[in-house]
Amino acid sequence: MAVLPIAKIGNPILRQIANPVDPASIGSRCFQEFLDDMFETMVHYEGIGLAAPQVAQSEQVVVMECEGSNGIPKTVLINPKIVFYGPTQSEMWEGCLSIDNMRGKVIRPSMVRVQAYDRQGVLQDIEANGLYAVCIQHEMDHLLGKLFIDRMTDMSTLTQLEEFDVYWKEESASVI
Ligand code: ZN
Repeated sequence: MAVLPIAKIGNPILRQIANPVDPASIGSRCFQEFLDDMFETMVHYEGIGLAAPQVAQSEQVVVMECEGSNGIPKTVLINPKIVFYGPTQSEMWEGCLSIDNMRGKVIRPSMVRVQAYDRQGVLQDIEANGLYAVCIQHEMDHLLGKLFIDRMTDMSTLTQLEEFDVYWKEESASVI
């Protein structure tokens, strides 16, 4: 296993449309090791989600996990597609391993249903709410070359982490 370097904003790979994975390759040792490396990289940098373009692989692969009662189960999404958006929206502070030390508020649908292959190559159908739903949308945006700052509707909430800790931490129920 290995911690991979993170592509930061400004790296053109973060702005590319990621390529679909050949489902026949999911079971290969090489691909399985890549998934392990993605999880190790995400945990090392204290993220709760990571998309393959963030480690300079322009492929439709996302991993996520966040322990805790309001957490996210260990999830692998390969070639994911959102098939349903819930009618209500929620606003949450977001951050990104590719954008150092920044937070900003993003409004997104608070529920999604997503279909994707898991790491066994089995097609799964996941209904997600709250933090899980936001994380899925944030990570899937990376597969479209989008960053959370592109989704912000009020840029006045864009905040350096030091100032976030001073002025905004109290009001934030959840941060991704
Ligand atoms: Zn991100």
